[in-house]
Amino acid sequence: MAVTTHETRKGPWIDQLKGRALIEWVEDRTPGDSRLEMCIQCGTCGGSCPSGQDMDHTPRQLFAMLRAELEEEVLDSNTPWLCVSCYLCTVRCPQDVKITDIMYTLKTLAVAKGKSHANTARDFSETFTGYVERYGRSFEFGLATRHSLAHMPTSIPGVVELGMGLLTKGRMDMTPHKIEKIDQLRKIMARAKELEATL
Ligand code: SF4
Ligand code: SF4
Repeated sequence: MAVTTHETRKGPWIDQLKGRALIEWVEDRTPGDSRLEMCIQCGTCGGSCPSGQDMDHTPRQLFAMLRAELEEEVLDSNTPWLCVSCYLCTVRCPQDVKITDIMYTLKTLAVAKGKSHANTARDFSETFTGYVERYGRSFEFGLATRHSLAHMPTSIPGVVELGMGLLTKGRMDMTPHKIEKIDQLRKIMARAKELEATL
């Protein structure tokens, strides 16, 4: 099983975007009520975000860009790809905007439009899901070393130092461990992919 892939996933839904305002499409495509139109640009989300410093744009800025129909800039942004789904922004948002779910919608659209190839975050995301498919869980040591070697070779000394600290304190394993009953998880993932293909 390949740990990283780059195929572009397109479903019939991509045609629904034609002629529509991007923000409306994102609202429709996000499960439940995204409340994206309720954003008051307060900035609480960006101030809460653990990945904020590395993002091209804060979530607040990204939503302003969505309103301005800056599709290219939104889809080129690394922001959705650096979202680690901690949901901190979502629980703190005074307007109950479903920020994390919107990030997933934007990632889906970026992949469908082949827009995520310029940043390394997609590689990181696919390496992560590759480990989950293979072992049923993430493998932090492999994830960090693969990503650093491929995209951030100058950061390797720092990664090694951090990794050694985590390894010696028993906070990280050197080898991946497969979960029990992984076949069940694989069936669920296979079904999810089947459903995704029909959307
Ligand atoms: S916290 Fe909510 S309302 Fe405030 S900028 Fe972020 S999304 Fe908009
Ligand atoms: S869910 Fe994503 S965007 Fe929101 S605070 Fe966490 S990392 Fe940042």
